[in-house]
Amino acid sequence: MTSAWQSLKGHQEQRALFARSLQNGRLSHAYILAGRDGIGKRRFARLIAQSIFCRECPEGELDACGQCRSCLSFSAGTWPDYIEIGLPAGKTEIPIALIAGDTDKRGREGLCFELSMAPQASTRRVAIINDAHRMNADGANALLKTLEEPPAKALILLTCDDPDSLLPTIRSRCQLIRFFPLPEKDVQDLLQSEGLVEDPQEAKAIAGMSEGSLTLAQQLLNPDLRKLRELVASEFSQFEQMRPLEVSKQVADELERISNSTEEQRQNAQWLLRFLAGVLNDRMRRLMSGDFSDALHQKLGVRCGMDLLSGLLERIISAARQIESNSPVRLVLDAMFDELARQMRLGPVSAR
Ligand SMILES: [Zn+2]
Repeated sequence: MTSAWQSLKGHQEQRALFARSLQNGRLSHAYILAGRDGIGKRRFARLIAQSIFCRECPEGELDACGQCRSCLSFSAGTWPDYIEIGLPAGKTEIPIALIAGDTDKRGREGLCFELSMAPQASTRRVAIINDAHRMNADGANALLKTLEEPPAKALILLTCDDPDSLLPTIRSRCQLIRFFPLPEKDVQDLLQSEGLVEDPQEAKAIAGMSEGSLTLAQQLLNPDLRKLRELVASEFSQFEQMRPLEVSKQVADELERISNSTEEQRQNAQWLLRFLAGVLNDRMRRLMSGDFSDALHQKLGVRCGMDLLSGLLERIISAARQIESNSPVRLVLDAMFDELARQMRLGPVSAR
């Protein structure tokens, strides 16, 4: 039998855990699949669902052939016992209507209602809630009711970046499974096998910056963001002439131009900050291994020590946090670049 699981990279331990639970008849009603964005949690959740539905796969075995009627119908999105919801494009919250139905149909539509029905064509109903941390309080409470008294033949899979951002009451009723970033080689293979990058060398370079996330790798391929990264990196290499407010304005203008919504702008800003943090991390690693060859070190000499680098890194991380908690991107960047330029001119705060 061919297996639909062939499309999955990594996460074999997590797969084995589900396989054992299914085999022993100990599958829980609800799981949280937690780990950073873009490492394959959604793909994993869908494979679990498909395996439960696959007709060719013996009951109790976690596999899917990818070719039978149920597999094909699942892939086409028409399998009746499957529900998947998540963040609609351009939205910052999962609408409660998707979980518990519209106001006039509350409780008679939506994921919780559908889960309460007996399966039509398989042994279970399976629901996936992607980016579950984006449920608002009403949505989370509606789901909580279902989690408190789960329908007998239901399986709920929540995916999220950070389980701590879910209500503790939800967390305590689900089994938590952690997922980890993909090895660089897996990201490289995925970039090539999904036709995102043809040149193996380029795929390798992008994978190296991807922090084990295919989403981040895809973002790194975006030509607009690539230009922005180059701009910021070049400003950093000639920091003595860096005019922070001009750089900040240029970056913020460009972020506004290339993003279709405030949410996307925030996300792009986060990616840029992550890149910048990566550059500094890389420098710290090199410094620790006694490699002083890069341009910044040659210019800064002894001043460019761990203190300075960690001060800069800290400032970037705090800017990322501010953007995460919805502070205006432009203001955050203004303040951050200003402080970074000052630290590079004068040395770290602690040394002043
Ligand atoms: Zn099948």
